[in-house]
Amino acid sequence: MAAKESSIQVQDISSVRNKQAPILLPQDSLEEIDLLAKEFGFHEFHLLQTSEIVTARWVGLKCRYGCANYNTSWCCPPAAPDFQSVRELLTEYELALLLMSENRNQHFYRNSSEKRRVQIKQWKATVSLERKLFLLGYYKAFGLPAETCALCKECAYPKQCKFPNEKRPSLEACSIDVFETLKKIGHTARLARKIEDCFHSYSLILLI
Ligand code: SF4
Repeated sequence: MAAKESSIQVQDISSVRNKQAPILLPQDSLEEIDLLAKEFGFHEFHLLQTSEIVTARWVGLKCRYGCANYNTSWCCPPAAPDFQSVRELLTEYELALLLMSENRNQHFYRNSSEKRRVQIKQWKATVSLERKLFLLGYYKAFGLPAETCALCKECAYPKQCKFPNEKRPSLEACSIDVFETLKKIGHTARLARKIEDCFHSYSLILLI
């Protein structure tokens, strides 16, 4: 969704801490998460307090009007949790990871298989990282991957999901405003305006 001109870099973990976050997560845990995030191909992550996650109704409006995935996927509205449920869910967590991956696809509008490949990669990375975090003791870990599930060429919705272990509601489907959330932690999202620009995709993992 956003682009920047610089080369791909994994952020120094010393800068992922927000002011109050260190109280809730020790340095060695942060280092462990940093290694895992890199292992799963994420280029950057931010540790957020869930109070910093912005939800907004306009996100759902864009799902409902103007997106071909509306009412066609288990991971999108109206199958995804509604606005109020997400607001309530966020109060059950204190910390979350906002994970960014940076991609380029100069054939974005013509090569749907390449687009799908990128989507699947990030979807699986989010769900696998969630699983690893669970095994490390973050038993509440729950991932909200980017965009929509593309594991099947065509989603089985409303019939039974073909890979229910990997079924999650997407970040956008949960009405999370990534632009405003990034702003809250001092980062700016910029749009990829040209086809040759890299674009950023964001996933969220609710952590503790
Ligand atoms: S795994 Fe397949 S059926 Fe299940 S949500 Fe994803 S695309 Fe739909």
